[in-house]
Amino acid sequence: MEHVAVDEVDNAVQPAAVMRRLTDELGCEDLAINYYELAPGDSFAFAYHEHSVQEEVFVVLSGTATWETESGTVTVGPNEAIRFGPGERQRGWNRTDEDGEGERVRALALGAPLSYGDQPKTAPCPECGEDAPVSIGRPDDDPEAVVTTCDDCGTEVGRWVRGDDGDNERVV
Ligand SMILES: [Zn+2]
Repeated sequence: MEHVAVDEVDNAVQPAAVMRRLTDELGCEDLAINYYELAPGDSFAFAYHEHSVQEEVFVVLSGTATWETESGTVTVGPNEAIRFGPGERQRGWNRTDEDGEGERVRALALGAPLSYGDQPKTAPCPECGEDAPVSIGRPDDDPEAVVTTCDDCGTEVGRWVRGDDGDNERVV
């Protein structure tokens, strides 16, 4: 048995204000589980993506999340869950009012098996003018930050850092 207090797990730099990786804390052997808090405008993911092997379930605990899916936009409210099978493209957001009125989304993401396989992903590239394949990495100028770069032209299309208040924030 393993027991963990979610709030005591380190916050990882991610496109969500808070993302606590519970997988290793709980010693999970073939399940990925992460806790998320999304401020208005935040996303669960760095890009619109799929997992070639892993299925993924998101359980929204509070707030309302909005997913881009292959079937269009899907809104998921408190005490609702959404499941994506391997190969289904998706990206979830907190699309509530970004002017300070929006509520945080709190959610758990569960994926199995632990290994997700290939993860093809795209994001808008201002240089290419459309959704382009992107890669996720750490920039040379800030090893604490996480960036997404366009595979076609090399442009940095997203950058996330830890803010002074302890939450993650997007700066590009
Ligand atoms: Zn590009």
